Amino acid sequence: MTATILDGRAVAETLRAELRAESATLAARLGFTPILAIVSVGDDPAARSYVAGIRRACERTGIACRPLELPLATTAVGLRAAIDELNADRGVCGVLATLPLPPHLPTSVIADSLAPEKDIDGITTTNAGRLAFGWPTFAPNTPAGGMEMLRRYNIPIAGNHAVVVGRSGIVGKPMALMLLAADATVTICHRRTPNLAAIVRGADIVVTAAGRARLITGAMLKPGATVIDFGINFPEWAGGKMVGDVDFASALPVAGAITPVPGGTGPVTNMMLMRNTLAAARTLLDGA
Ligand code: NDP
Repeated sequence: MTATILDGRAVAETLRAELRAESATLAARLGFTPILAIVSVGDDPAARSYVAGIRRACERTGIACRPLELPLATTAVGLRAAIDELNADRGVCGVLATLPLPPHLPTSVIADSLAPEKDIDGITTTNAGRLAFGWPTFAPNTPAGGMEMLRRYNIPIAGNHAVVVGRSGIVGKPMALMLLAADATVTICHRRTPNLAAIVRGADIVVTAAGRARLITGAMLKPGATVIDFGINFPEWAGGKMVGDVDFASALPVAGAITPVPGGTGPVTNMMLMRNTLAAARTLLDGA
């Protein structure tokens, strides 16, 4: 047996076509092209490449992109003022901040001041709270992309046991909450979890967001399990190539379905931001 490859590039391409059609219809009805604003503070190369990817996704889906590059010396008051302006601008439907912010700016400056209805990456306290309650909301885009992969490939979730390795606020924890909302029985593992292998072996769906190459091997998987790998690692042994948290070669003959790295969860994540921006724009019509 060899696992079905969950092809993120193909899913992203389908989403792109759907979203492009939707954004054209929305822009015609609104009378303007919805804007996604990206707030960055300081000049970080990783953030720059993230922003470049989002700009491309905007171009490909017909959404206007407005990068707002604030100087490193920006204070909490200055950042809050910039967010307030974006909150008040009707054309700006979605606002994304590149995280982490520089050390002098706690994430809470944005999490507590961004309007939840423009918070397309689910970082505000309101939207994180709604997610925890299991209410409809904008969820963080990386785990939302993982859920999208499961749905597009018709992987059954309800009643199945999902094990999520990693508990960060942007990937592991929201993924666990979304799986729970979809009626999975969810176990969350972290660095202090004993017997990781035994727990993973009980899973119908294994999600890993640990940032540890080869953390999950084929021997740890239940035969036929679905594996969603969010990990991004560049270990020396891979000679500079990107690998996930899963040892792909040993997992492939055991798993039922698996996301490759690269080409799995990554390509879908930016499309989730585009989808949320259009969803935010649609509420302007509802309220008109
Ligand atoms: P964090 O470092 O914030 O969290 C990692 C989590 O994994 C922590 O909860 C940690 O446990 C847990 N963990 C680490 N090592 C082990 C271990 N040996 N056994 C069990 N649990 C472990 O990372 P992020 O959540 O931000 O990112 C996770 C991975 O996903 C990274 O590789 C990152 O690059 C990638 N990523 C991928 C994206 C995508 O689009 N595909 C987007 C964002 C991130 P503890 O809490 O106990 O420390």
